[in-house]
Amino acid sequence: MGVFDHNEFDNHESLHYFNDEKTGLRAIVAVHSTALGPAAGGTRRWAYENDADALTDVLRLSRGMSYKNAVAGLKFGGGKAVILASDNAPKSPELFRTFGRCVNSIGGDYVTAEDVGCSVDDMRYVHEVTEYVSGLPQLGGAAGGDPSPWTALGCFQGVQAAAAARLGTESLKGLRIAVQGVGHVGLHLCRFLREAGAELYISDVNRENLKMTTDEMPATVVAPNELLFADVDVLAPCALGNILTSSTIPKIKAKVIAGAANNQLSTAADGVRLAERDILYAPDYVINAGGIISVAAEYYGNGSEDDVRADVGRIKDRLQDIFKQAKETGRPTHELADELARNLIAASR
Ligand code: NAD
Repeated sequence: MGVFDHNEFDNHESLHYFNDEKTGLRAIVAVHSTALGPAAGGTRRWAYENDADALTDVLRLSRGMSYKNAVAGLKFGGGKAVILASDNAPKSPELFRTFGRCVNSIGGDYVTAEDVGCSVDDMRYVHEVTEYVSGLPQLGGAAGGDPSPWTALGCFQGVQAAAAARLGTESLKGLRIAVQGVGHVGLHLCRFLREAGAELYISDVNRENLKMTTDEMPATVVAPNELLFADVDVLAPCALGNILTSSTIPKIKAKVIAGAANNQLSTAADGVRLAERDILYAPDYVINAGGIISVAAEYYGNGSEDDVRADVGRIKDRLQDIFKQAKETGRPTHELADELARNLIAASR
């Protein structure tokens, strides 16, 4: 399948393929929209089975970034990068410098940051060769740095909003919450949830990350293939996307799904399936915008940590509006969020 007739092609403005023989770097950058500003979105480094999977991922993720940035009220369009991880391209400073040169060659239409498989340190190497990067360590009370704690804070407050709307309680005390993936965001989220008195169920395919979490707090470890179907009140997906499908949804016991992972719904029909089962879904790109809010404040140099905290707090208000509308109209939450995002982008053109 080509690009223009690809199922996930959504009038993306441009697509950039990069190959570097020396470092083995292979990367794709997708610029979905620059209508609201430079296309911003993190870099995912992942061992894709093939190029086609990487293309599908970057097309979906970049569109999601356009929607996320629009709904969060940021002066950013949407883009995303994927680096194809392989034994031929081991992680190294030079790999990230080379990737930085690729980003630089796009001339500012794409701004990168860290995502799954990349760290703040990796972005430092990117920054050695380009200004079009954010998510770097900051001094004093300036906004920026690792976006994950902000993503986790927005998710935590989003879980509170969803629990209030669906379970009739904003207090998370005693609620059973399953967190899929305890990486950068998941671990921070667990800390917030635990502090609020939730009973935690966690899974991860990485044993070290599991151990780090269970060393720090009480949590029941569940096998990765069982976590989605655990007998819990809330499911917080914080690993990868494509997990809510026609085959998983009928087996889910949670009444609320609210977590950080991008592209949780496999297809739009899966959002309808959740609504039909009366499972309240917090649209992923609305609830997980905390990190990009911090990235935007850092990139534009126009905010303190307190400003970012206040802005992240507004994610909860947006979710409350969406949940209220869903209740009044009977429409699925993902549809309402998509409509809002598309209207905001169209209004700016
Ligand atoms: P991460 O790589 O640090 O953590 C992901 C964790 O999920 C890892 O520990 C990994 O081992 C685990 N995992 C992978 N497959 C799994 C499976 N099948 N079952 C259980 N665990 C599994 O990534 P992150 O930065 O924490 O991001 C998590 C999700 O949130 C991603 O989908 C990312 O795109 C999204 N997100 C992250 C941010 C951010 O600020 N980091 C912002 C918005 C969205």
